[in-house]
Amino acid sequence: MLPILALDVDGVILNFHDHWIQLAQERLGRVLPCQNRSYHFGKRLGLTREEYNQCWDYFREKDGWSTVPEYPGVGETLDLLARRFRLIAVTGIPAEVLDHRKNNLAHLDLPILEVHATGHRDQTKEVILSRLSAVAFVDDRLHHLHEAALAGVPSLFWVDRGDEQERENTIGATRILSLEEILDRI
Ligand SMILES: [Mg+2]
Repeated sequence: MLPILALDVDGVILNFHDHWIQLAQERLGRVLPCQNRSYHFGKRLGLTREEYNQCWDYFREKDGWSTVPEYPGVGETLDLLARRFRLIAVTGIPAEVLDHRKNNLAHLDLPILEVHATGHRDQTKEVILSRLSAVAFVDDRLHHLHEAALAGVPSLFWVDRGDEQERENTIGATRILSLEEILDRI
């Protein structure tokens, strides 16, 4: 049996960032330039709390969870990785949208065998990764890579999208700028 490579979804496989902002612009009827690199969309786009909530309502109304596009080239990269690893997604989304996410990934025809969600605040990625015994984990947030380190995942990859981070890279994660770069490093 092939070893498991676990991957985060948003910011690694799917471009949730641009998708959310596109729908938010549609809802509010104006262009929303990023004002900073905050992880929180409301802060990043300078939205009031009311606007932020309106955007999330619109996102759900439009079933935004089912239609997030992949980053360019991700399909080809995952196909190559799938020759050497079982690819399993570990994603920090609420449990009620897990089926939407599965449909999204299936519709894009990506070779992801399983999708595990942490739920809103139900469990950490450490808990899920401890059960999976993955040989490597990829995430765009150092916070989650620290969780993977606690779970004992031996090989860590940080897709640095230039976003603000809550933690430093004190865990020796390999910094890459796109998922494609992992092909030369793993
Ligand atoms: Mg992410």
